[in-house]
Amino acid sequence: MQEKFRLKGIGRSLARMTVLPILILGIIICVFGIFWVKSSIEKEIHLALISQANLAVEAFNALYPGDYTINTSGEELIVTKGDTILNYDYDFLDSLKEASETDYTIFLGNLRVLTTLESDGTRLTGTECNSIVYEEVFKGEKSHFYKNVNVLGNKFYAYYAPLYNSDGSCVGMIAAVKPDLGVQKLVLHAVIPLTLIIVFTALLAMLGTFHYARDIRKNIVKLNGTFAKVANGTMSNTVPPELLSRKDEFGEMAHSVIDMQASLRKLVDEDMLTGLSNRRSGQLRLQQAINSMNEAEGFCLALGDIDFFKKFNDNYGHDCGDLVLQQISMILKQQVKDYGVCARWGGEEFLIIFSRGSFEECKDIMEHTLEVIRTHQVNYDNQVLSVTMTFGLINTAGMKSADEMVKRVDELLYYGKEHGRNRLVTESEAQ
Ligand code: GH3
Ligand code: MG
Ligand code: MG
Repeated sequence: MQEKFRLKGIGRSLARMTVLPILILGIIICVFGIFWVKSSIEKEIHLALISQANLAVEAFNALYPGDYTINTSGEELIVTKGDTILNYDYDFLDSLKEASETDYTIFLGNLRVLTTLESDGTRLTGTECNSIVYEEVFKGEKSHFYKNVNVLGNKFYAYYAPLYNSDGSCVGMIAAVKPDLGVQKLVLHAVIPLTLIIVFTALLAMLGTFHYARDIRKNIVKLNGTFAKVANGTMSNTVPPELLSRKDEFGEMAHSVIDMQASLRKLVDEDMLTGLSNRRSGQLRLQQAINSMNEAEGFCLALGDIDFFKKFNDNYGHDCGDLVLQQISMILKQQVKDYGVCARWGGEEFLIIFSRGSFEECKDIMEHTLEVIRTHQVNYDNQVLSVTMTFGLINTAGMKSADEMVKRVDELLYYGKEHGRNRLVTESEAQ
């Protein structure tokens, strides 16, 4: 359960590692995108309002030559430019608004005298302008662009420029304004596709990561399985071939498992001194031979013991005894190699399990082996030593258990020890 959780965690961590940076980057791009789009749109609006206000002033001057005057003496406010009363002639201002999608207002002093801005069908004339604007533009005689002008609760971008009469005196202001709403819409139009692209990229990255993490997880589960088998004592190769064929770290780990199994096999099955199979492994192999044998035919089994081995230890030391064991083991292995396996059964006792060959063939091999041992010379400490062995050899046909077989071949070996040693004893000789 805990294992599963941990493995799932890899997928989560990988997804976090890839998706989070994309999202953070996306948010940063979006925020900067909004600022960038907004400021460039505002810059464009600023330039457009300047040229529209200037155009309107020039057009007014061309169409209505003369100075601006305002007459507030009567009931009605009368605004004239030259000889024209402007109050009654909104056609020109309205056509400008239509052509440029911009509202215009003309202030004389701080009074809004002409405007295309309407509220409930009434033009917003007669009201005063914002005091800051009045101070900065009219009194300061300096044109100005404002981003957040509030007119009757609505936000506007507005450009104000001073208006002059022919004597050069500042008489009022012209304002060209555009509603903020349109800009917000434009910003949204620019940012929405950007956001969608980022979300889509993050989703793609997430999908890719999940796919990749699933592959990693699958391989970890497989490796885990093989480790569990090794932990349970399985020494044969249990690594799936698809892991072994990988050229990445998983492939390396799979090969390490195989190496580990080989090392463990060696530790568990091999006799350290001689390199032969140890008794445990010999017993397993004997049982395997019994399991697969044809009961009527059986197989050949030999048990041998070095004659008077103790004297090597006693006369030349334990190291000499070890050397004799190593050299005899080598000879046994070489002689039997194609016919079966040899295990170190005890101190100086060896069990040979033949996997093929008739009894006569096995007997010949054993006789020949005895001869090789007889003629072999062990060189130890400037001494040349000779070794002999005694062997029992049986065919296991008719026998059922490993104990029964080993007991019988041991009896023959014992018989050989009792009858002169340095010989091979078979059933017929022990009668
Ligand atoms: P026999 O001909 O009757 O078999 O006489 P033996 O001397 O060979 O037999 P015995 O059982 O009296 O002595 C076997 C000796 O082998 C006793 C033991 O100390 C020695 N031995 C067992 N294992 C090892 C080993 O790994 N290294 C060495 N050097 N000696 C060993
Ligand atoms: Mg002995
Ligand atoms: Mg012995």
